Amino acid sequence: SATKPTALITGANKGIGYETARQLAQQGYTVWLGCRDRDRGETAAAELSPEGDVRFVPLDVTDDDSVRAAAAHIGDTTGAVDVLVNNAGIAIGGEEGPPSTVSPDTIRRTMEVNYFGALRVIQEFLPLVRKAPAGRIVNVSSSMGSAGLRVAPGDPLAPYGMAYAYSSSKTFLNTLTGWFAAELRDTPIVVNSVCPGFNATDMNGHTGTQPPSEGAKVVVQAATMPPDGPNGTFFDAGGLVPW
Ligand code: NDP
Repeated sequence: SATKPTALITGANKGIGYETARQLAQQGYTVWLGCRDRDRGETAAAELSPEGDVRFVPLDVTDDDSVRAAAAHIGDTTGAVDVLVNNAGIAIGGEEGPPSTVSPDTIRRTMEVNYFGALRVIQEFLPLVRKAPAGRIVNVSSSMGSAGLRVAPGDPLAPYGMAYAYSSSKTFLNTLTGWFAAELRDTPIVVNSVCPGFNATDMNGHTGTQPPSEGAKVVVQAATMPPDGPNGTFFDAGGLVPW
């Protein structure tokens, strides 16, 4: 399938990543589900196989060796990566809080997945993304990481919520978007952050107000961005989101 475009989605065995995989497979992409648990990953790939060419690759975004091995495997089997979606993320609900109470250890573990995980995956996969004719990198962020969203004209402190570890990890993730987009500006590679909205997934005990198939649409929009589309931005289904 060397002629089909290839996508890698981290954390794709459930939730928004899983639905993103489904939609890209339906569009004809060869889709790699990068999952840390082999059973969950293989089960998801089998479930999605009627949609197209969907494959499992072991990938724990917190583990250098795992990410390196995944890049080697994909490079050896399907070659270039046209779409890289950094979707894997955690929110350590029971340990969250405002910055006065959340422990540095909780912040560190959240950052290890949501920020360093994406950084590690981009660094290891960039050579494969560079091989694609028009690589796309999508960082699945959150409006909770935006410090500008609800500032004006009301309360300037309104954006600051009660989940400092998660929110700040997404703020850091957004810096990757801007920095990589700038570094890669003279290449065909486009890098954007998206907020998928509030989706019913395990992350929020299925309290989200829309199905994850809806959230996946904005991820797919960024993943299939035309060459003249936005680069180095943060957007959701409604348009640009301030950093
Ligand atoms: P889920 O909890 O349903 O899925 C998270 C996925 O990430 C799972 O597949 C999980 O794997 C995987 N994952 C966690 N840690 C790692 C790791 N170390 N290596 C590889 N994979 C890992 O959450 P959502 O689908 O809701 O979230 C997907 C993304 O969307 C996240 O980045 C989240 O922050 C973001 N988001 C979600 C919103 C929502 O409303 N749901 C709103 C805004 C942003 P496993 O099954 O093995 O745990």
